[in-house]
Amino acid sequence: MQALLLEQHNGQTQARLADISPDELPDGEVTVEVDWSGINYKDALAITGKGKIIRQFPMIPGIDFSGRVVYSNDPRFHYGQSVILTGWGVGEAHWGGLAEQARVKADWLVAMPKGLDSRKAMIIGTAGFTAMLCVMALEEGGITPQSGEILVTGAGGGVGSTAVALLHSLGYKVCAQSGRSATHPMLQQLGADNILSREALSGDVRPLEKQRWAGAIDTVGDKVLANLLAQIHYGGVVAACGLAGGVNLPTTVIPFILRNVRLQGIDSVNVPAVRRAEVWKRLTKSLPESYYQLATREVTLPGAIEAAQQLLANNITGRTLVKIR
Ligand code: NDP
Repeated sequence: MQALLLEQHNGQTQARLADISPDELPDGEVTVEVDWSGINYKDALAITGKGKIIRQFPMIPGIDFSGRVVYSNDPRFHYGQSVILTGWGVGEAHWGGLAEQARVKADWLVAMPKGLDSRKAMIIGTAGFTAMLCVMALEEGGITPQSGEILVTGAGGGVGSTAVALLHSLGYKVCAQSGRSATHPMLQQLGADNILSREALSGDVRPLEKQRWAGAIDTVGDKVLANLLAQIHYGGVVAACGLAGGVNLPTTVIPFILRNVRLQGIDSVNVPAVRRAEVWKRLTKSLPESYYQLATREVTLPGAIEAAQQLLANNITGRTLVKIR
């Protein structure tokens, strides 16, 4: 079987296409023929070696995939069944989806929800799954469409673009923050009511500013997150999932103690199975058909390395799908 293989030589990560025997796949109850995988920010860091993602080499990257079961010794999954995998350290510590086959634990798989197919599931992928977790965090914090406008940062990327589509379809007014004017038409088609430049939130951070947003979904971190926290309404909620702009958070406690602002962290890797099923159900129900046409490009397995470099150079809009077969 063909796979993208990451090896480390003299401390440098090297990515190449390799022929691997399925016998070499790691232990797991279920073997899946992968139809689609994707290039997420984390995959791009892993493939280029620009981030410490891989915990042991050699590694097949790919933190998410969809496909069909070819072998299962777990009663929950049967031959031919369509399944999805996101997270659980797959593509980081366990061989992942950028290969013709993957062998994983049954506990990590989600049965394909009614209304989705393999391709659509990977258009959503880890990015869309995370976007839905962020939207649910706003809802759980009491934010409704009547609360006011929601800001989405890094909106041109996979998480951000799906968050814009989800919020719009749920009736929220959405402001999309994007550093690239090329993303604006897509963001408007996905439902952004307003667009904000990257510079608007990149200046020096003040403890409090005029209250502008009922809530926010942040994929960027650093000054952007610090600046938007100062602009959240009294009682507002921020779901923070990303670090595309950096890992720091140069803020003060003032928005939290004077405006009752809630900062909710979002992790998509270790979400329990019951919550996963709920997230996928809501994604299937909420995303309009137009979403699947707008924010997607396709590459093949040999194109995955170039796609990873382009993603880190911020030259990619929306989701990048990898067609495995
Ligand atoms: P993408 O690369 O698709 O999107 C990131 C977006 O961030 C870019 O499109 C760009 O948007 C913006 N951006 C990039 N560089 C900078 C910068 N230097 N300063 C400010 N903005 C920048 O990645 P994903 O959507 O896949 O992931 C987004 C973030 O979320 C990543 O940090 C990723 O690690 C994180 N993530 C976290 C998860 C979790 O479980 N917590 C799960 C999935 C993702 P634009 O050009 O529109 O400004």
